[in-house]
Amino acid sequence: MNNKCDIIKDLLPLYAENMCSDDSRQAVAEHIAECESCRNELKKINTDVAIQADSDVSMFKRIKKRARIEKVVISIVSIVFVLSALWFAQFFLINTDCAMDYEKYNLAENVKVEVDEDGLLWLCTDNEASTYDYYYPMPVDANGIKMGEDGFDKNNKGSFNVTFHHRKVNELAMIQMPGQKKRTPLFNINEKEYKFVKYYDENTDTEYVLWERG
Ligand SMILES: [Zn+2]
Repeated sequence: MNNKCDIIKDLLPLYAENMCSDDSRQAVAEHIAECESCRNELKKINTDVAIQADSDVSMFKRIKKRARIEKVVISIVSIVFVLSALWFAQFFLINTDCAMDYEKYNLAENVKVEVDEDGLLWLCTDNEASTYDYYYPMPVDANGIKMGEDGFDKNNKGSFNVTFHHRKVNELAMIQMPGQKKRTPLFNINEKEYKFVKYYDENTDTEYVLWERG
């Protein structure tokens, strides 16, 4: 090791990166040809440069991989969000609400009136009426117009009147509201004077007697 070696060793990093002048380059080349110490130093520098380059590549790969994972996660979250939005939208977009046709939905069979031992009169909707063609019947009480004593009944004021609207639902929505036997209490026959319970069909402007006081 001498003074020349110190100068050459200062130049070696530049030489390794191929960044020194032609004169320096030649001087270094001549020196390392005959100096083992500087040759070894150059080998070490070359190895370090290779490792540095390797770790740069692996970091780049890691960043790329992370970006890919983020892309996949964002895609999955987006798909789940869109599917959820569609699932909720079906209840508002597909469901419709309109007057229930007495003949078409065979309400004579599926809607009954029962009086229990306490005299309470119940309006009973059978399974059939609530599941048929995915229609869901709803007793209507719009400002008392369609249900009660002041409703549609033009001929007999002594009747309690009911009518149904139906909500058309799709198969998925039916899972949320399965067809059931539904019982709705209307009034106590010992407390009210009604002689009839009538069903009114808006579609045909027809009244049907569901119950008549015996
Ligand atoms: Zn040397």
